[in-house]
Amino acid sequence: MPQEFDSLEKLVRQDPVFGQVSFDGHEQIVFCNDKDTGLKAIIGIHNTVLGPALGGTRMWQYENEWAALNDVLRLSRGMTFKSAITGLNLGGGKAVIIGDAKTQKTPELMRKFGEFVHSLSGRYITAEDVGMATEDMDTVREVTPYVTGISQEKGGAGNPSPITAYGVFMGMKAAAQFKYGSDVLEDKKIYVEGIGNVGETLVEYLTQEGADVVVSDINQDRLEEVRDKYGVTIYGGNDLHAEQMDIYAPCALGATINDTSINKLQASIIAGAANNQLADEVKHGMLLQNKGIVYAPDFLINAGGIINVYAELEGYDRSEIMRKTENIYTTTIEILNRAKETGVSTHKAALEIAQARIAARKQEQLVY
Ligand code: NAD
Repeated sequence: MPQEFDSLEKLVRQDPVFGQVSFDGHEQIVFCNDKDTGLKAIIGIHNTVLGPALGGTRMWQYENEWAALNDVLRLSRGMTFKSAITGLNLGGGKAVIIGDAKTQKTPELMRKFGEFVHSLSGRYITAEDVGMATEDMDTVREVTPYVTGISQEKGGAGNPSPITAYGVFMGMKAAAQFKYGSDVLEDKKIYVEGIGNVGETLVEYLTQEGADVVVSDINQDRLEEVRDKYGVTIYGGNDLHAEQMDIYAPCALGATINDTSINKLQASIIAGAANNQLADEVKHGMLLQNKGIVYAPDFLINAGGIINVYAELEGYDRSEIMRKTENIYTTTIEILNRAKETGVSTHKAALEIAQARIAARKQEQLVY
């Protein structure tokens, strides 16, 4: 922090965007406002060295604008490393729309958002994230080609969530192989926190393998639906992280591994779909390592969705999507071994490989 500022708060007030704690050399941040539709959105382009910045749009009722900006900065940065470690020629970007997806999302608002995306001429390509559905991407597609995750009827690869779940399953199995010497998840007690689009399909894979699955969600209807469908147990307590379990799968929102939860965590593996699971990636990454908890880095194992949408840009088929997603198993094993050998956190080990790929490309060419 520059010396003339004696507190972070002062610095942030003086430099509200580039001084944000989550700002990390982002290339471009676009604030989008439209009075008629009520659209308030922020598009974050973190890095375009490997290609156009691709990442989903999240619609969420943020506590305030700081929280929204912080989220888009963190999420777009995560996308850069996700694509880099997965070997895709994409940069990192993300968008957030401030509002309640259930009551404030309209086709007009989505079209207006699409126009803002279009104004960036392809530097940012959007997709689905929390609060969005495939039909919303179809609406965006009416005004811009810079959108992925559109429906199969409209020529897209469809909902990416089942592929994301498959990748998380692969990453979890790899972590089990590393920790227990076997990747069989039968009888393992696995807590899935958040049973939305990704969480539910993950539950399906896990129950098919005979795992002992416990689910939690803030949506009671969903809990009952998933329990009835897969015969899993609904978590009835109020301190999930403190429960005895083999594997914790965070599949809701980020930062659930934080100062409070990390001391209670009983799991021996963490493998889930949520983005930015570590509240502080350096501190909490190392604390997990010291506790002997195997953490499968989120941006590595939840890359199935981006592999799926990338197929729309590159034109590869379903079998290639599945092959690339299955490869998450091998990469996870490599990263976990690398972390063990070098004594760094698993998150750092993955980040280093992603950063090296970007640095090598930067040597070769100018930004996209
Ligand atoms: P979703 O909105 O369909 O599901 C999220 C679920 O979490 C909902 O059922 C919601 O009720 C629940 N939830 C919210 N807060 C909770 C809490 N405090 N405790 C328990 N449950 C809670 O989202 P999704 O598409 O399934 O994505 C889940 C996570 O995975 C998100 O963090 C997302 O960014 C990440 N992710 C998704 C994809 C994808 O392809 N959809 C790809 C990569 C990463």
